Amino acid sequence: MAVASRLRIGVFGGTFDPIHFGHLRMALELHQQLALTRVHMVVASVPPHRDQPVAAPAHRLAMLQRAVDHHVGLQADDRELRRTGPSFMIDTLAEFRAEYGQEAAICLAMGADAFAGLTGWERWEQLLDLAHLVVMARPAAPALSAQLQTWAHPHWSDDHEAALTDTPAGRILRVELSQLAISATAIRAQFGAGSDPGFLLPDTVIDYIEQHRLYVEQGA
Ligand code: ATP
Repeated sequence: MAVASRLRIGVFGGTFDPIHFGHLRMALELHQQLALTRVHMVVASVPPHRDQPVAAPAHRLAMLQRAVDHHVGLQADDRELRRTGPSFMIDTLAEFRAEYGQEAAICLAMGADAFAGLTGWERWEQLLDLAHLVVMARPAAPALSAQLQTWAHPHWSDDHEAALTDTPAGRILRVELSQLAISATAIRAQFGAGSDPGFLLPDTVIDYIEQHRLYVEQGA
């Protein structure tokens, strides 16, 4: 049933080790392009699909909170830190669904590279029961496997507005968002090497990192 007024919730997960302007610009553009009510930026505690983060979860959350402090559309979200064990996105989406109800459009944002690896995610085929997938173009993203192409085919939607109005979940949307050439790995190396990472991440986050002496062992 088409519902023009349904809540539109964005979900953007990451290790945010540390949060930087690449993440923040991306979240802001997502918020604007899809006219989302808010974007939950969900800090992963134990990401199942990648190397373990350097900074402790509480520090990564504190940095994220400082970064989005004055932005009403972006919300630092610690729900995965409050669970034990690996942070499976399917469980996180189930929590959002329970919280926002059956009518809210929930939009899980991911890079095209992450989307290409979707079949490795826990209970991946159920993701679309709970949310829309919003796939952000990334440079040099790998090709989709035949299995993923076949699964995704009936769900692609080019009309974002129609998709989010028509249904609370189940579509796959493509979006083009700015890709600032900023990497958390490179930022950690800069802190480790004692060089100035100014203008790559908010000053409030730089102050926090310096105050807590995070990433001092990360010299490249
Ligand atoms: P690293 O540089 O250490 O690999 P990362 O920033 O890619 O870290 P995460 O914090 O887990 O790692 O990233 C969260 C999300 O942000 C991912 O979906 C990633 O694709 C996206 N992302 C990371 N950097 C950028 C950027 N510069 N512009 C847009 N999106 C980004």
